[in-house]
Parts: sequence; structure tokens; C-alpha cells
Amino acid sequence: MQKIIILNSGKCSWGRCVFCGWGKHDFEVDSKELIKTFNENVDDKVTSLKIFGSGSFLDEKQFPIKFLKHAARVMKDRELIIESRPEYVTREKLGLFKGVKLIVAIGLEAADDAVLRKLRKGMTLKKFNKACKLIHEYEFKVKGYILVNPPFNYKGLLQKSVKHGLKHCDELVLINTYPHAKAELFNYWIKSEWKPINKEEFNEATEKYNDDKRIKLDFDNYSFEPRFEKQERLTGVGRKYLVHPYFTVWQDYFTRFYKRPADKTIILFLPCSKRKPYYKSRTHKTIRRMISGFPFYNKLHIVVISNPGVIPVEFSGKYPFNNYDWNERKETESIKDEYLRVTEERVINYLKAQKYEHYLSYFKPDSESGIALKNACRKLRIKLIDLCSKDVYEKEKDKRNPLIQRGMLEALRIKVKVFSGMLK
Ligand code: SF4
Repeated sequence: MQKIIILNSGKCSWGRCVFCGWGKHDFEVDSKELIKTFNENVDDKVTSLKIFGSGSFLDEKQFPIKFLKHAARVMKDRELIIESRPEYVTREKLGLFKGVKLIVAIGLEAADDAVLRKLRKGMTLKKFNKACKLIHEYEFKVKGYILVNPPFNYKGLLQKSVKHGLKHCDELVLINTYPHAKAELFNYWIKSEWKPINKEEFNEATEKYNDDKRIKLDFDNYSFEPRFEKQERLTGVGRKYLVHPYFTVWQDYFTRFYKRPADKTIILFLPCSKRKPYYKSRTHKTIRRMISGFPFYNKLHIVVISNPGVIPVEFSGKYPFNNYDWNERKETESIKDEYLRVTEERVINYLKAQKYEHYLSYFKPDSESGIALKNACRKLRIKLIDLCSKDVYEKEKDKRNPLIQRGMLEALRIKVKVFSGMLK
């Protein structure tokens, strides 16, 4: 039986690689605790054990010698896969694992010293090669990690890295480069200097290695979603708050990585609300109450259109969707035009990526978000069902929050009833 355990102990002695956030975590080092956790996880049935822990298993500041000796004793004649930086691959450390089927995983990342320098890997190819040689001298194996789509990538780099990796390692894992929240790489995405690649792009980049038994492909090495370290309030009207880089990163995520919930086949576009998260606002609660009794309600996916873009409602509690404001009254004609153009494009991108069976909307007829949505659907030839009654709106428009005035809600209910009837 193969088992994977995560042992968090100490901190990566390097911690500076631009693509890594794990290396910045700092945990207590406690041999007794490590041995206890190890023993709780490893019994006689375990034939192969993979230990993950940010940094280096062979760095005794992270994993004391006492613990290494214990792990080596327990894993005698069994497979043990550990991770280490090359500088900790020494005769002294390797000698502890005699009799263990040891595999040392090392991040090669990219077989180019100039790229390694820019990635701030703190390692040269020479050091990598030397560590691999020493591991082989002890008749242990080496697993090399290679980044697919690292920053500073260039045509042919992956091929070069794989060639180099296969020369020095017994097996390779091609890992998709994702920006961890604490990694500097995340800022490269924000500054549009680099972008993560999605599944299709990863498959395309790695397809020629599909049949090579020495190479494993790892697209989903951790569940990924934009997480911003700096969380200031984004309040204002104007270009800065329309195409803010944080919003742009999220829109990229929603179109290239996000998949709508499989059971939500009917989309209902709604406007944003002053109160955040949107679902706690009076407007959203009232609209939901009006339609929650209909049989299709469970299939409904509420998606908000606002100045940050197109926001599936399940993300509305996340930053910055929970911490921004845009005052419509301060809009100028030119920002209105830009809002329409940018929003239309964002809706088009979202709807090209996420398909639904039915498309509904409930916006004020003069809302820019609603107009951009209509224009986008027209261009995509999507039939959009507008649940807002223009005639009733004319009578209610001067009241506060017209969308949830009684007349509007009654008209909404009638339109929803008609839609519900269509589904039978
Ligand atoms: S990639 Fe490895 S060496 Fe680099 S900071 Fe992260 S844990 Fe440390």
C-alpha cells in the first residue's frame, strides 16, 4: 500500500524561490512529535511512503537526525520518497538510509542556469547534477520536478529541461506552475507579466510526454484560486476601479480555470449590491425569496455583474468582491462607455467558457451591466430572458431600490412563472 503524509516541520532554509509559497511557512521542530505522527501513519501494510514537507527532509534544522534515523529504521526494505534541496544531499545523510529503497525528489524546475537564477532557486545545474550522482552512488533513485510554464519561460525550455532531467534522474514529474498566495509569482500575474496555464494548455505543452513511463504529469498539484495578500478596500469610480489588476486576475480565473457547479444549469444574472457579500443584501434576499419556491430554483446559478466583472455568487465573500464599492452617481459619460465595453467583453469571455441551458437576467432597463449583458448575448446568439418588466419599471423607477418594489416583484414572479412553465 502506498501512503502519503505531510510533515510540517521547521522552515525551508532557502525560502526564496519566486514560484513557491510553501517555503515561507515556519513550523515548530519537535522530534518527538514527528516520530509520533510518523508512527501513527506507518504500519506494516505500508510498502511505499511519500513524505511531503515544505523544504528539505535531509536538512536537520527541519528534520533532526534522531527522526531521520527512526524513519530509516522503520522503512528498511520499503520504499521511502522524500524531498530535498541538493545541498543537503550528503554522504552523511544518505548513509543513514542504508537498506531503504530511497527516492530523493529534487526540484530541477528548469534546466537553464539563467532561468534558475531568475527564479531565485539558489541552485545551479552543476549542483543538481552532483546531488543526483551522489544519490545514484548509494544506489538510491532520483525523482526530478520540472515546472511547466515557469516565469521566464522560452520556446524549447521544457524540452531542454526534460532532456536534462532524464539524463540525471530516474523519473520526472512535470508540474504545472501555479501562483501560491505567498509567492512572488502571484505579483507577476497581477502585473500581467506571467499567467498560469489551464488544463488544455498544460495538456498541449506536455502531450509529447504522455507515453513516456519515466514521466508523470501533474496538472493539479494543489487546489488553486487567486488569493491576495494585500487586501485594501477598492472604492472609487473610474478606469482604475474598472480594470483593477485584481479584478482582471479574477476574470482570467473565471474564464480559464473555474467550472460552474455541474448541477447549476440555469444562470440568473443580477446586479451587485452596496452591501457585501451580495447574498446578504436586501435586494438579493428579496429576489431570491420571490423565486425560491419554483421547482427549477435548485438549478439556478446566480452570477453578479458589477465593475469587478462577472462574479459567480459563491465567490462574493472573497476578496476583493467583499470589499469594493462603485458609486454610479459619480460616473461620467466616458467611464460609462468604457464600463459598457469592458463589461460586454467580460460577459462574452465568461459565457464562452461556461455553458448553461437557460439564461435569465434581472436588471434595471437603464443599467449599464444589463445593457452590456444584452449586447454580449446578442453577439453570442444566446437567448437571454429578461425578467424585468419595463412598463412596471417606468412606474417604479423614481422610488428607492426600484427592483424590489412591490409592483416590480409581482411582475418578476409572473415572468418567472412563465419561464418555469416553459421547462415542463
Ligand atoms: S521551492 Fe523548495 S527550495 Fe524553493 S522555497 Fe519552496 S520549499 Fe524552498
